[in-house]
Amino acid sequence: MPRKKLKQLVGSLQLLVKTRLWAQILAGMLLGITTGLLLSPSGAALVSEENAYAISGWLALPGYVFLALVKMVVIPLILSSIILGLTSSGDPAYLKRISLRIFPYFAVMATTAVVIGISLSMLIQPGKYVDSELISSAMGGVKAEAVAAPVGAAESISLPERIVSLIPTNPLGAALEGQMLQVVIFAILMGIALVGIAETRAKPLLDMLDSLREVSMKVVSWAMMLAPYAVFGLLSQVTIKVGLATLLGMSVYVGTVLLGLFIVLCWYLVIAAVFAKRSPLEFLRAIREVQLLAFSTSSSAAVMPLSIKTAEEKLGIRPAIAQFIVPLGATVNMDGTACYQVIAAVFLTQVFGIELTLASLILLTITTVGASIGTPSAPGVGIVILATILQTIGVPPGGIALIIGVDRILDMSRTAVNVTGDLAACAVMNKWLKK
Ligand code: ASP
Repeated sequence: MPRKKLKQLVGSLQLLVKTRLWAQILAGMLLGITTGLLLSPSGAALVSEENAYAISGWLALPGYVFLALVKMVVIPLILSSIILGLTSSGDPAYLKRISLRIFPYFAVMATTAVVIGISLSMLIQPGKYVDSELISSAMGGVKAEAVAAPVGAAESISLPERIVSLIPTNPLGAALEGQMLQVVIFAILMGIALVGIAETRAKPLLDMLDSLREVSMKVVSWAMMLAPYAVFGLLSQVTIKVGLATLLGMSVYVGTVLLGLFIVLCWYLVIAAVFAKRSPLEFLRAIREVQLLAFSTSSSAAVMPLSIKTAEEKLGIRPAIAQFIVPLGATVNMDGTACYQVIAAVFLTQVFGIELTLASLILLTITTVGASIGTPSAPGVGIVILATILQTIGVPPGGIALIIGVDRILDMSRTAVNVTGDLAACAVMNKWLKK
């Protein structure tokens, strides 16, 4: 290539990276993976294994600062956004219309994701491709007990007790403990109550919530300045930590989950095209920053502020809808996680030679749809919740030790799908609640 042309190309790439967030994130991702490969013991191994881990901790520092800053304001943001989103129309009939549509919509989408996951894992049978050495070495590790530990605690609570426990009897406690689902339920109830009282009485509280939301978004905007560096560091850390050999040993399982997630993603595009009249390519182009950031941070909650902004500014969703659906969806609508969880569960039944009857498949579907609602939108929690699901179909929860080594990459991918689901839901609801 002539020098002038090369210079032009570099110049326009620099401009792209300077002005576009998605290009910055993408550049961060690529540089992060390259750095990771150079330092990783299973890559070029430029430094010793010990040093590689130490360096990766420092590289990931901006990433953890980014996540901590967003986490710091995520509760006030969820609370204020949901209440303001619900009350903005000031009309109880609107509340009824939106809830009658959004909850069945979420349930149908989650069930579809689970059915996709089950069908794919039965068809491909990834469990048949794992060699027994890998199984025994993973099962002998200490990680099994570590991951299985929270399960016992969760199991001792009965279903009716669990349903009641969704209502936060101590809302401040729920917020302090970061119980997102409880916070969301509190926000919905407050929103409904505020629509039910006189406007003049509701106004002071709503004004305060408005300020709270704006302040939180200000903090998020600071965090967003770190986003490209965060992505760079987090991805180099992942690349250093996830060994290539682990990935290869589990490649059919990893491939099955990725294919499942890809199908769920295409399913969203179809839904957005049919019900919201959105061209798939334009839709993807509008939401690419959200997807890239979700992929790099593995946290739907961390991406939530950017999702709201993208929904309003790039997809043209009415603020009342975006501000209600995105935080709600980030908490309860996790189809990527649901799809991953069933594939992992069926995979483990195949590894351990456990037969799956129709009854246990139905049980698996119901449990997973329920579990994906309760899964917190933070990195790596999908696999912890999976431990509970496994017990319902008789897989030893310790089996998780087998899949934990490759979980990070799947976590990143399912989070990108989760956030796409929330934005697709916004687009559909924006159309369905036109008036
Ligand atoms: N990391 C996912 C999310 O935030 C949840 C999961 O672990 O599946 O959406």
